[in-house]
Amino acid sequence: VQLTNMQTRDVEALLHPYTNAAAHRQVGAHVIETGKGVYVYDEHGREYLEGMAGLWCAGLGFGDKELADAVAEQVHKLPYYHLFAGRSHEPAIELAEKIKELAPGMARVIFQSSGSEANDTQVKLAWYYNNALGRPEKKKIISRKKGYHGVTIASASMTGLPYNHIDWDLPLDRFISTGTPHHWREALDGETEQEFSARLAHELEELIEREGPETVAAFIAEPVMGAGGVIVPPAGYFEAIRPVLEKYDVLMISDEVINGFCRTGEWFGADTYNVNPTSMSLAKQLTGGYAPLSAVALCREQAEVIEQHTGKIGTLGHGFTYGGHPVGCAAGVAAIRIYQERKILDHVRKVAPKFQGHLQRLKDHPLVGEARGVGLIGALELSPDKSGKKTFDPAGKLGAKLMGELVARGVILRAMGDSLGFCPPMIITEEEIDALFAPMEECLDATLAFAKA
Ligand code: PLP
Repeated sequence: VQLTNMQTRDVEALLHPYTNAAAHRQVGAHVIETGKGVYVYDEHGREYLEGMAGLWCAGLGFGDKELADAVAEQVHKLPYYHLFAGRSHEPAIELAEKIKELAPGMARVIFQSSGSEANDTQVKLAWYYNNALGRPEKKKIISRKKGYHGVTIASASMTGLPYNHIDWDLPLDRFISTGTPHHWREALDGETEQEFSARLAHELEELIEREGPETVAAFIAEPVMGAGGVIVPPAGYFEAIRPVLEKYDVLMISDEVINGFCRTGEWFGADTYNVNPTSMSLAKQLTGGYAPLSAVALCREQAEVIEQHTGKIGTLGHGFTYGGHPVGCAAGVAAIRIYQERKILDHVRKVAPKFQGHLQRLKDHPLVGEARGVGLIGALELSPDKSGKKTFDPAGKLGAKLMGELVARGVILRAMGDSLGFCPPMIITEEEIDALFAPMEECLDATLAFAKA
């Protein structure tokens, strides 16, 4: 009954512009109705291999009974409660404890509902922390071009993608940006990854000096950039950046919204790349996407300054009605239990070579400029050649064309400009990885023919 209903509704007229009816038309599927494992099914019953885990979040795939049951049980037991005025609830306490166990150096956890809210909270806590320390001028936040941190006013100000700024009157004052650590695109001729990393660290230092170290509060980075095109940091990048931040007493926020919870082959991207953060933003795979939840984890020093100050003034004037929603927290507890009991980290490490091998194999295709990735995240960047110096005219929308070819063959991926992102559910088997990549050559050939026409 529901199927017929869906087919007769004017889906495009109902969809909010942000679900992007035009893009939907291009990918052919208007309504996704069900999901099982790494597959989702549309209103016509067509099957798609979900190579992006939705929006990088369904790490345990779709239709996981244990995770769904944990959510349902919590809805029955205590569907809502808050974390204000001395009250709390079991799932929040248990989840905070789990996060502390897994995230080295993190002492306190503050919950929100979305990644954007987590990053907004990071900005406010960095400001509050510096006010508490009696340095009210130390407020500027440095982020990176092509970084993605969300769409609320502060998180969009940190996001470094033009379409999140143009016509939105962003970034706000106090938000400044530094270079993208993309060696293939940005390195000078002959510059090694280490030399490139050292140059970026030097540029960061110059920026801090120019702005005045007494005005710079925090630096935020995704260990592996996601929506900017899955950009893996060059060798020695965070090792070079970290001492600069320490020298000028600048907080290091690791945005783990995509990287966190096994994606890069460690619990956090910060572990894979020696980020050594002072705080972390967590969301998406925190609950496997089964309920909305995000969190900020803080190191002891920052947490203690904040707590002492709050003790003096009596209240922390920040928090959301749904921050730490019990259903989200129950999903988080269950997701982490599943990551641990089913040894998802070991699985990611085991299947990653096959996944990365497929990406590297496709590097030889004439349309592919670079293949990159780590663990179970990666990208192919389309380019007229392998030099990293040339790009296709964006108006040609080759990435979108390639994505359309793939969807027509039952594979969902995501085009970010001319970079095609891969971020499948982490439960994917080696056979399913082969299936994910099986139509790639044919789709690349079709896109190449389109580019030449
Ligand atoms: N940070 C990163 C790294 C993200 O990828 C995203 C979303 O894709 C966000 C923050 C924002 O999260 P949300 O969309 O839940 O607000």
